[in-house]
Amino acid sequence: MKSQRDKALFRKIAGERVVILDSLSLRFSGSDPALSKYYTRLMQRIAEHYKVDMPKHEVPVCKRCHSRMVPGISAEVRLSSSNRYVVYTCSSCGYEKHLHY
Ligand SMILES: [Zn+2]
Repeated sequence: MKSQRDKALFRKIAGERVVILDSLSLRFSGSDPALSKYYTRLMQRIAEHYKVDMPKHEVPVCKRCHSRMVPGISAEVRLSSSNRYVVYTCSSCGYEKHLHY
C-alpha cells in the first residue's frame, strides 16, 4: 500500500524525468530521429501514468509518429494566412498540425 507521501514523491520524480526526456528528445531530433521519438513517447507515457503536466511545448509533437517538429529539421512550416493558422508538416510521416493565431 502506497502512502500519500510516496505518491507525492513518485510524482515529483516523474516530473523531473519528463523535463529531462523533453530536453533529450529535442537534442536528438536532428541527429537520431528514432531515439528522439522513443524519448518523446516515454515522456508522454510517464506523464500520463503519474498525472504530471507535460512541459509547455514550444516545439510541437507529431500526433501520428511522436517526432518533434523542429522547423527546417524534422518539419516544414508554412503560413495559411487566409485561414489564419500556421501549418507544421511532419517530414517523416506527413502529418499536418495547425496552430491558430
Ligand atoms: Zn509524424
